Amino acid sequence: MKCGNFKVKARITKAKRLRTNWTFDMFSNWIERIVADPFSKLEGYIVNGNLWDKTDKNWLKCFHATRATKAGLKSLVEEVSFGVQQMIYSSIIHARNLAPGSLCNLCLTENLLLCPTKGLCSHRRNCKYHDSSQKKFRPCPSQICNAFWKKIGSFHRYSKPSWKNTKADQWCTNHWQVAKCFMPLEGYQDVSSFDDTDFNGIINFMINCTESQRCLSFNVASKPNVLYESRKIGRNLRHSPDLKVTDTDLASYFSTLNSLLTDSKYLASDSSAQEAVIKLNQLEKDANRTDAEYVHEYLQEVKATKKVVTLEILQFVKATVKFQSSH
Ligand SMILES: [Zn+2]
Ligand SMILES: [Zn+2]
Repeated sequence: MKCGNFKVKARITKAKRLRTNWTFDMFSNWIERIVADPFSKLEGYIVNGNLWDKTDKNWLKCFHATRATKAGLKSLVEEVSFGVQQMIYSSIIHARNLAPGSLCNLCLTENLLLCPTKGLCSHRRNCKYHDSSQKKFRPCPSQICNAFWKKIGSFHRYSKPSWKNTKADQWCTNHWQVAKCFMPLEGYQDVSSFDDTDFNGIINFMINCTESQRCLSFNVASKPNVLYESRKIGRNLRHSPDLKVTDTDLASYFSTLNSLLTDSKYLASDSSAQEAVIKLNQLEKDANRTDAEYVHEYLQEVKATKKVVTLEILQFVKATVKFQSSH
C-alpha cells in the first residue's frame, strides 16, 4: 500500500462517512478538474452521500458565521486600510516636497528588500527571491517606495509585515496591496480586494494594523480580546480534522463573533455589521435549512473566495469521504 493512502485514512474518524472505491490519487486528479468549474458535481457527490450529522452541520454553521462576520467588517476594514495607505502616501509626498499626484509604479517589492531578508531569501548567492537583475535591491528612483516600505513597518503591531503578499509597484494607488502586508504570510499573494480575502486575512489585518485601534473600544494589545478570540475560531475551524463542532463550542463561537460585531466604538452603528448580526442570529437558530442548502452555500462561499480554494475543498472532502487503498 502506498503511504499516501494510509495518511488519508488515518485522518478519517469512525463516524459514518461516504465510502468510495476511489484512491486518493484518483481523487486528486478529479479535484483538479472540478476546481475549474462544476462545483455542482462536488455538491451532488457530498449531499447524495448523506453524510451529515448534527456536528457536521455545526461546523458548516460556524463556517458561515465567520463569512458573515467578515462581511460585517467591510466598512471598518476598508476605511482603516484606505486611511493607512493615504496617510502614508501623503506624508511621503509632503516630507519629500514632491508635486501632488507624484507616483512610483516602477519598484517591485524585491527592489525594496535587502538580500538576505529573513523569511524571504533563500541562499544569499543564489537567492530564489532576488532571482534576476531586475529584482536586485536598489533605491526607488522617485524616493517614494523605500519610505513607503518603512512606514508600513511602523504601522505593524509586531513590526513584521508580510512582504511576500504584496506588490509594491501598486502601493501608491491600491490600498489593498498595503492591507495585505498585515495578513498572514501564506495564501494572500493573489487576492486583490476585500471581497476575495477570507475571514482569517481580515481578522489578521485588524489585529496587526495598529490603525484599527481607533475604530475599536477595547485595547487590541491586551489579550485576550474578541479579535484574538475570533482568530482562534477561524483556526479551530480550519484545523478541525473531522470538521465537527460541539454545541457548546458553537454557542461560544457565535457569542464571540457577536461581541466583535457589536463593538460600541464603530461597528455597533455600522449597517454592514448590523446586517451580519442579524445573519448570525438567523444562522444560529435556523433548524430548517436542509443539508443540501448548507453544502451548496459552503461551496458558493469557497468559490467566491479565491484563496486556497483547492486546499479548502481538499480538507473538506478528505474529512467526509473514505478512500480505498489502491492495492
Ligand atoms: Zn534575496
Ligand atoms: Zn519606487
